Amino acid sequence: MSQCSSGQKQEVNSSVTSSQQVASINPAILDLALMAPSTTLTKIPSLQIQRQQRRLLQPLHSPKHKRVREAGRRASDETLAVHAGEKFIDGAAALGTDSIATPVVSSTTHWFKNSEDLIAFKEGRRQSFEYGRYGNPTVKVLEDKISAVERAEATLVTSSIMNAIVATLLALVPPGGHIVATTECYSEARAFIRDRMGKMGIRSTFIDIDEDMESSLKDVLHQNDDVTLFYADSPTNPMLKCLNIGQIADVCHQKGVLLCIDSTLASPINQKPLTLGDDLVLHSATKYMAGHHDVITGCVSTFEVLISKVRAWHNDLGGAISPNAAYMIIRSLNKIALRVEASNCTALLMARLLEALPKIGRVHYPGLESSPWHNVANTQLAGYGGVFSFEVKADLHGTMMFIDALEIPFIARSLGGCESLVQQPAVMSFSGHTDAEKANNGIRDNFVRFSFGIENFEDLRDDILQTLDRI
Ligand SMILES: *Cc1c(COP(=O)(O)O)cnc(C)c1O
Repeated sequence: MSQCSSGQKQEVNSSVTSSQQVASINPAILDLALMAPSTTLTKIPSLQIQRQQRRLLQPLHSPKHKRVREAGRRASDETLAVHAGEKFIDGAAALGTDSIATPVVSSTTHWFKNSEDLIAFKEGRRQSFEYGRYGNPTVKVLEDKISAVERAEATLVTSSIMNAIVATLLALVPPGGHIVATTECYSEARAFIRDRMGKMGIRSTFIDIDEDMESSLKDVLHQNDDVTLFYADSPTNPMLKCLNIGQIADVCHQKGVLLCIDSTLASPINQKPLTLGDDLVLHSATKYMAGHHDVITGCVSTFEVLISKVRAWHNDLGGAISPNAAYMIIRSLNKIALRVEASNCTALLMARLLEALPKIGRVHYPGLESSPWHNVANTQLAGYGGVFSFEVKADLHGTMMFIDALEIPFIARSLGGCESLVQQPAVMSFSGHTDAEKANNGIRDNFVRFSFGIENFEDLRDDILQTLDRI
């Protein structure tokens, strides 16, 4: 990929790419957020978390397992995406197979050799599975692979990110609690927090991602000591705003508030929020992880202590994915580094090119120096992602003509797949919204959003340039 050498290798934050270090949580924060909002930070012993960490780093017993686990800990994203959960770490151990491709275990229930075997499983002395809604060996391989790439202790894979969001918020926000979220977060997550959780007596406050965000958040947390969780997307869709995750995590943690980030647009290749101080990271795995526009799925990665609470709700909600879907995601996730790097590369070159054209207005992309989020992006992203948006200097219909005349990208919503997609939010994702709602979200009639796939850069460039020439 010769075009990739022309300056798009970005400043890489060492905390983003440092080899496999699992992020750690401050137990005081956990305790405050989960149970006792009024206790003080100093009161909580750190014993529980140390035990957690020790267990996490304990190798399996055989020398071979020890070797592969150590290899896993040293490995980079590219290698982990291929081997974690399978050759590395213990997910595949439960499958007891020498197959290179992870077997699809389709059974909905698992049998026990005898009652002692069952009791050993129930008491946690033996790793196995019982019933498909609570866990499945193929799904476990996927969960371990995601944890490795995300640098998380544990991951729960669900039937969509909305399912993961609902399970996470119901598990971690107490009755009568209070959530702070960003106005730019995914619209259905925002509606769930505001309307449905509102009906359950949970309050919500929304703040904008702008240069005053840190102080707005401090004000809200200062005025409301019932807040236990802050929810945000970063980067946001479609304006690609970036939260300063480390800074916001500090503000949250000083008040015992958990930070929860939807990191879908970055993918775990470009951003690892847990290594920056975030407590929970969610993905619409439908996008970069599944990567082929063919599976709806989601996940949440965090600390074992939090995952077990979310998993309990997930078991009730019944959001398990099928083992076949898990296999499709494993098959795609092992190539995520290649796919995301290709998309990063095309998007950055294209954003720079479009920004210089007279027929194009503002281009929203954190990789551009003109972006207000460029400096923050440089400290926390390993790549700027495959999605950007811009204004065409045309009206609603002129913009439609531009989109209709493109030959390579599909006109479709969603993002993160091999095929490039293009959409005009005014007539697609914001269709039916009032002018005020569009204006609040910065959506103009001439606004276009691209998700670049893995096609050849020159082909996409020629398609876009020829099309612009015609309008
Ligand atoms: C697509 C998307 C979602 C919704 O994903 P589902 O898996 O369909 O629930 C949520 N957040 C972001 C940022 C998305 O791009």
